[in-house]
Amino acid sequence: MGEVLQHRVDPRARAKRAMLLAIAWKLLVLCGWALSACTAIQADVAPPWDMREVEVPLFVHVATTKDGPVVDMARVEADVARTNVELQLQGIHFVVARVEELEIGHAVLQAREQRADFARRIEDHGALHVFYVRKCSVPRKGNVDQNVSGLHWIYRGVRQDLRHRMYLVVAHDAPATTLAHEIGHAFGLKHEQKDRANIMCSCERRQDAHFSNSQAVALRQAAARFERREAVVASR
Ligand SMILES: [Zn+2]
Repeated sequence: MGEVLQHRVDPRARAKRAMLLAIAWKLLVLCGWALSACTAIQADVAPPWDMREVEVPLFVHVATTKDGPVVDMARVEADVARTNVELQLQGIHFVVARVEELEIGHAVLQAREQRADFARRIEDHGALHVFYVRKCSVPRKGNVDQNVSGLHWIYRGVRQDLRHRMYLVVAHDAPATTLAHEIGHAFGLKHEQKDRANIMCSCERRQDAHFSNSQAVALRQAAARFERREAVVASR
C-alpha cells in the first residue's frame, strides 16, 4: 500500500523538485552573469579613490645606422623625464625597463608593412614599446610620404597574443614633447587642435606644453587599465 502511494506521489514531487532546481539554476546563472559583468566593469574603470602610483614600463628599441645608434640614452631618459614631469600629479610614472639596439636596417620607418614587421619581431610582454628611428613618415594622398616626428599604433590583428600591444615611434630629431604626445595617443587621447600650449596639439607645440586636467585624468585611467591588462597577460 505504502509503495503504491509512493508511486502516485513521486512524479509530482519529482516535478516540483525539478522546477525548484530549474529556478535555482536560473538564479545561479543570473548571479554569475551579474558578477562577471561587475568584474568586467571593475577591470575597466579605476575607482576614483585609487591614487597609488601606476608604473608603466617602457621597452625602448633604438635603431642603428653604420654611424651607431640614432639616439643615446641621455636623450631617451630626457624624453621619459619630460613625460613623467607632466603626469606625476596623476601618479603615473614611466620607467625604462629595457633597451635594445636594433640591427642596422630599421632606421627609416615608412610603410605599414614595415610597422607590422616591427610588431611581430617583438616577443616581450608587459611593456609599452618605443622605437627611436632616424626618420619616420606616413603615407598621404597621392602616394606622397610625409615626415612626422612620431607616430603610434595598436595591434588589432588576429593574433591573440599581440592584441592591444602598443607601439610608439619617435624620430631622433623630434621635439622633447613627442614621446608624451604619442603616449597620449596610445592611451586614447585625440588631438587638441589650435592650442600650442597643449601636448596633444598636432602643431608646433610650445616647449612648456602640458596636458589639460581632463587629459591627465583620462591618461591615469588608461595607464591603470594597461597595468591590469599586462598583469593578466603576464600571469598566463
Ligand atoms: Zn598626434
